[in-house]
Amino acid sequence: MAKNVEKVIILGAGPAGLTAGIYAGRDGLKPLVVEGLSPGGQPNLTTTIENYPGFPEGIQGPELAQRLRQQAAKFDSRFISGQAASVSFKKFPYQIRLSNGQSLQAQSVIIATGSSAWFLGLPREKALLGHGVSICATCDAPFYKGLAVAVVGGGDTAMIDATALAKVAKRVYIIHRRDKLRASLANQLLLKNFSNIKILWNKTISQIHGADKLSGVTVKDTQTGRLSRLKLNGLFLAIGHHPNTDFLRGKLTLDSHGYVLTHNKVFTSVEGVFAAGDVADPQYQQLASAVGTGCMAALEAENFLRQKK
Ligand code: NAP
Repeated sequence: MAKNVEKVIILGAGPAGLTAGIYAGRDGLKPLVVEGLSPGGQPNLTTTIENYPGFPEGIQGPELAQRLRQQAAKFDSRFISGQAASVSFKKFPYQIRLSNGQSLQAQSVIIATGSSAWFLGLPREKALLGHGVSICATCDAPFYKGLAVAVVGGGDTAMIDATALAKVAKRVYIIHRRDKLRASLANQLLLKNFSNIKILWNKTISQIHGADKLSGVTVKDTQTGRLSRLKLNGLFLAIGHHPNTDFLRGKLTLDSHGYVLTHNKVFTSVEGVFAAGDVADPQYQQLASAVGTGCMAALEAENFLRQKK
């Protein structure tokens, strides 16, 4: 094998990619981690994480991301910044082209490019992320005990988020742009168990308020155009996620939503190419589950390389 062929390239440096880096590094594979646009992944977008095992007092998301990176580097993971623009898995070794034009070759690839939450595209939205605006109710609901929150969206995630929040918050509004929910009936029925959930039908958010901390939103009635102000402590976006797989279209089997389709947890449709974390997980999308599949993908990459020898 030519000298510049990596044993394993890991695309993405969120929890799944960095865990794969720790495991592949400890196996002596000297993985090359391509850090992408948001090194550290989704933990970097949140504040305190309370549901990651081993931290009973919680840990700040960016600190966890940094510590995972340090741990991967300690075991000889190497890092380059760049974003995968295209791949070719037809010939061995596999080829990866980055958006800066750099070409890489690898005997095995771990795809851990994650998924990105859709945002509303409003001013202040991203500045207040972790300060009242959240994209993860499972992670952040406990911070809103006795407070007023809103969930945006009418899908399954919005229903599940609203019910998780209703267990702790005083008041939960669901702000939905239509007069019908998209969520399954089973999840819609969950709302009936909570008297503190109110659906605001036919409403969109036109403004987000708050300097350092969210203070509320302006909602617009889509039928009348009437604007009204809603005081809120928390705003949970549940308008969907999109997996970061554009560069994989036609190269690997994806599901109808664009997530990498895996079998046996981390195996993709191409031998020697594995997927870990949210990029292949439309269902759980948790830090702990991403770390788990990152570990599995690295172990399987090592297994693949050993058999290939
Ligand atoms: P989703 O089904 O795509 O729903 C997104 C919701 O956000 C929709 O109600 C949509 O409104 C609304 N929305 C989208 N863009 C918006 C915008 N710019 N402004 C305001 N509202 C906007 O996403 P999801 O709920 O995250 O679910 C994703 C997938 O995972 C689905 O297939 C879902 O069934 C599945 N899932 C299943 C479960 C379960 O327990 N079985 C749990 C979570 C997720 P419209 O309805 O008007 O389009």
